[in-house]
Amino acid sequence: MTAVEPKSDEATITVHNPADGRVAGTVPIDGPDTVAAKARELRLFQPEWEAIGPRGRKVWMRKWQDWILDNSDHLTGVLMSESGKSRTDASLEPVTMADAINYWAGNAEEFLADRHPKAHTPLFRVKKLITVLRPYPVVGMIEPWNFPIAMLALDLVPALAAGAAVLLKPSEVTPLSAVELVRGWNEIGAPPILKLATGYGDTGAAVIANADYVHFTGSTATGRKVAVACAERLIPFSLELGGKDPAIVLADADIDRAANGIAWGGMFNSGQVCISVERVFVEAPVYDEFVAKLTDKVRSVQQGQEQSGYKYDTGAMATPAQRDIVERHVKEAVAAGAKVLTGGKPTGVGTFFEPTVLADVEPSMSCIAEETFGPTLPVIKVADEEEAIRLANDSQYGLSASVWTGDTERGERVARRLEVGAVNINDALANVFCPGLPMGGWKESGIGYRGGGAAGLIKFCRQQAITAPKLPTQKSEMLWYSSPKMQSRFALAAMRAFAGHGLRRFGLGKKG
Ligand code: NAD
Repeated sequence: MTAVEPKSDEATITVHNPADGRVAGTVPIDGPDTVAAKARELRLFQPEWEAIGPRGRKVWMRKWQDWILDNSDHLTGVLMSESGKSRTDASLEPVTMADAINYWAGNAEEFLADRHPKAHTPLFRVKKLITVLRPYPVVGMIEPWNFPIAMLALDLVPALAAGAAVLLKPSEVTPLSAVELVRGWNEIGAPPILKLATGYGDTGAAVIANADYVHFTGSTATGRKVAVACAERLIPFSLELGGKDPAIVLADADIDRAANGIAWGGMFNSGQVCISVERVFVEAPVYDEFVAKLTDKVRSVQQGQEQSGYKYDTGAMATPAQRDIVERHVKEAVAAGAKVLTGGKPTGVGTFFEPTVLADVEPSMSCIAEETFGPTLPVIKVADEEEAIRLANDSQYGLSASVWTGDTERGERVARRLEVGAVNINDALANVFCPGLPMGGWKESGIGYRGGGAAGLIKFCRQQAITAPKLPTQKSEMLWYSSPKMQSRFALAAMRAFAGHGLRRFGLGKKG
């Protein structure tokens, strides 16, 4: 059976399970007036959410965390029903959300504390300098379909911990998990500062029209439109976009580990991961051995969607359109001379596409030049490290990469030459599980970062500078009009003394 794409009947979206075509649920399509009304309501309650501070927010977020863990089987089931994921893939998402709440709610007090920068010259030592972090009142959050829950762990959780109210627009393909999470938020009796806007791109546009800050995760093409819309409104935004992540296998690598790790990094979630391995560059001396081992591993990946238990490694593609992109890339590669070593076609059931390894691949092929977002691993033989780095950097994208080597110092040296926002040495996808590290795409893979410790909360805040006198004040300051001219000349001389270096401080020294 072919899975059906969600279609608008003008009032609701009917969501289907792409693994078997069954109806999974429906959500309303929120028009501009509905979205604006939701944003207005969020604005009413956000000041209180900000006022209770990180400790008060932690109490509510921990209750929500308990609700998520208590309902993790139910959430996993809903997620599977809308995305076609296997239980193995889907069950990781609720626990990722709980983990994120621990980190962001647990550290928010420290991360959001006032900062007291040192005065940069002695002239300002008489002042108390304070940087205050205050959240954007309403953060609009627009999400893709590949991780309907885990993506919220990365972005929604820190925004809430920062004290913002969030208007969340899940993907039209997979809105049901977000419905459940917001139901949980309401069920625990938390303040009404989290609302959903469901619908297609127009609903996303309405979210932008009503937000003070927009965080977008999705394709580069849509990200560009979001950036333009935010620029029109002069509101800040961050974009987490597409990728085409390279894996570089050097001749000194543990080839078994490289094959195991790259198979997982390419097939996890059926390859529908922004940071999944999409290009593999292997040094010539180990190419044959690596390709043989990778093919064995990928051939053994179990694909399907189970009713119970954890039988399958990966599931279906989220939409027929996504499956068709994967099929086109494989067909075009084969037509241009690549070899399919395993997989290579849709299974004919739902939107499943066989786990695939392609060899004899050339950089000009679409499977290397475009984002595939599916279970394919195209492998290219390279002469040496230099060629691997050059080809890895030859991309419009710059999300992340992996380097496989027996020498981690060499791995780091290679990492520092790659034009990407993250590099995992002898591992795949690892950085995304570390909220203390920044995650952001370079080049056309994004603008801004998520995570990165305190920076992950600060991005959802406006920064306010406050100065106050440390000492009792006089009637006038030296530069004010109310002070004698002589005093302002003295003030200028003092400023010059601290602004220069050496004899120039006193108007002396070499000129020219
Ligand atoms: P998409 O760009 O098609 O849609 C993303 C969201 O944008 C959806 O909710 C959609 O309704 C909304 N949207 C569409 N048009 C809009 C508009 N004009 N204004 C506002 N919102 C609009 O992306 P997708 O197909 O759902 O997701 C897959 C893409 O996401 C891939 O390219 C993948 O690499 C990327 N992705 C990136 C990351 C990352 O962290 N860098 C993570 C996950 C996915």
